[in-house]
Amino acid sequence: KGAIDDCSCSVETIDSFNNLKIFPRLNSLLHQNFFRYWKVNLKKKCPFWEDDGKCAIRYCSVQPCTDIPEGIKGAVTPNGIDKSQSLDMKSHMTVSDCDTENALGYLNTTLSKESLDGFERWAAHDSAQDSFCYLDDESSVDSEYVDLLLNPERYTGYVGPSAHRIWKSIYQENCFKPTQSFRPYADFRNIGELCLEKRAFYRAISGLHSSINVHLAAHYLLSDKNGFAESKDGVWGHNVEEFQRRFDPELTGGEGPLRLKNLYFVYLLELRALAKAAPYLESLEFYTGNEEIDSDVRKAVEDLLAVIQSFPEHFREETMFTGGLQATKLKEEFREHFRNISRIMDCVGCDKCRLWGKLQVTGLGTALKILFSGNFDQPLDQQLNLSAVKQTKFQLSRGEIVSLFNAFGRLSRSIMELDNFRQEILR
Ligand code: FAD
Repeated sequence: KGAIDDCSCSVETIDSFNNLKIFPRLNSLLHQNFFRYWKVNLKKKCPFWEDDGKCAIRYCSVQPCTDIPEGIKGAVTPNGIDKSQSLDMKSHMTVSDCDTENALGYLNTTLSKESLDGFERWAAHDSAQDSFCYLDDESSVDSEYVDLLLNPERYTGYVGPSAHRIWKSIYQENCFKPTQSFRPYADFRNIGELCLEKRAFYRAISGLHSSINVHLAAHYLLSDKNGFAESKDGVWGHNVEEFQRRFDPELTGGEGPLRLKNLYFVYLLELRALAKAAPYLESLEFYTGNEEIDSDVRKAVEDLLAVIQSFPEHFREETMFTGGLQATKLKEEFREHFRNISRIMDCVGCDKCRLWGKLQVTGLGTALKILFSGNFDQPLDQQLNLSAVKQTKFQLSRGEIVSLFNAFGRLSRSIMELDNFRQEILR
């Protein structure tokens, strides 16, 4: 209940806006082929420590995807780009410009070296500097399409030291901590000591963490309980005790509700990013090769974005990173910390959690890029008047777009699930 810290709006406002207007539209959109398939490398080695070994629990595995629409597959082939079918060409997008090496690597495989003069190379490099995450190299043999509907985010049984090491490393080493820390682990009770940008960083991560944990409590393995639709791989449903263990004020020393408010905070960040990039997103083709469906998807995206833009109390990103040199330095630090978190996702020991962790961090990184890189600050017509190479700075890859919508879809569903838990607890 009540006001969301560092924002001008309340939990109640978002509940009714999300549950009535956003969730139904977004949920139907995310069932469409364009948003359903995401290319990801789940085989990357952890860059920070020796792998703990892969989780052997069957619910941790990711089912392979065989039936991908040709229009989507055409985006990148081992031999380079298939221009006749290329999603990226058709949607006026560039392939990942998130990572310098990847961006240049991609250009090297798809354009002859001679066609890149010094300026173009510099532009690709410069564009990578604006990004808040490391994206997988989509042309790598280890990158594969995953059907997100076939592999829903839910309880996997990934618990204990491996999961704790990830969260600990994120909070202790990558969030900005208050100076007075009384407890050794994730103590952010003095968050008021931090400046707005550092608080926002923590709140966004904590909100993402809450969302993951709401999902696992809402889609919990209840094989020994009755009353839920049984599927061949188990009985899944709400686990109210698991939810209360994580979020009840009394069971969490008051921290549970604050963590849930952080979920609303990160929701507002991504909501604002979608509103800000709406003119650009509306100009895309969402190409999958089926013109009738693609046209319906474009209309559905337009409708969703119109609703998002109508939200009266958007997060005001212009209040962040103001104040000259100091602010520029802070933004650089903010970006580096977030990029590091995107690399930590390659250390997650459960494939299913790694998939959804990477997707949600990429989606949040894309939102941060829209909000803070400065590239989306000009009106779209001005952006489109720039030279083709400069325009790439205002573009997002298919992977970024799919992750942005799906990440926001996760937050939207979490908020909807909170309402279900609320009603079950009050019943
Ligand atoms: P954890 O959730 O592991 O939290 C560790 C500590 O962090 C807590 O003791 C608390 O001090 C602090 N903390 C907890 N929540 C917050 C918050 N919101 N904000 C700030 N601090 C907090 N499990 C699944 O079943 N399905 C999944 O899809 C899944 N995906 C995951 C993705 C990632 C990237 C990671 C790292 C883990 C994932 N997990 C998943 C595991 C899950 O998040 C928990 O780690 C696990 O259930 C163990 O929970 P826990 O109660 O020990 O506390």
